[in-house]
Amino acid sequence: MKGMSLLDELYKEIILRHYKSPHNYGPLDSANVRVKGDNPTCGDQIELMVLTDGERITDLRFQGQGCAISQASASLMTDLVKGKSWAEALALEQQFKAMIVDGAAPTPELGDLAALSGVHKLAARVKCATLAWNALEQAAHQTGVLLREPKH
Ligand code: ZN
Repeated sequence: MKGMSLLDELYKEIILRHYKSPHNYGPLDSANVRVKGDNPTCGDQIELMVLTDGERITDLRFQGQGCAISQASASLMTDLVKGKSWAEALALEQQFKAMIVDGAAPTPELGDLAALSGVHKLAARVKCATLAWNALEQAAHQTGVLLREPKH
């Protein structure tokens, strides 16, 4: 392997920091939307718990296990979308997937998630990076379903 650039080293450090000490990790008893996701090819699992008023992601936490990329992505994602509206969160998801799947340059809005940009070149790990974001998208759908349910 050729020598890693300073940026690669920095990115690796961010990923390992979030993997070892994930942010927003643990149960969220007040959650009204829960989504489980898994990536069998790598063995990654995640449960995303969201408290939402239908408009905004008031709070969210996750639990899971798996590789550093999957868990760091979940940690970074929860940091970024907490307090945001669903529309903002889904716009960030699009930017993230453009970076990971299509190889687009990271946008400034993605912040430290730029650390995962190299995953684009590791085809087998793309699903590790997108696992938490797919769970977020599912949570958005569930929120829509939640709002359409008749009130009793
Ligand atoms: Zn993985």
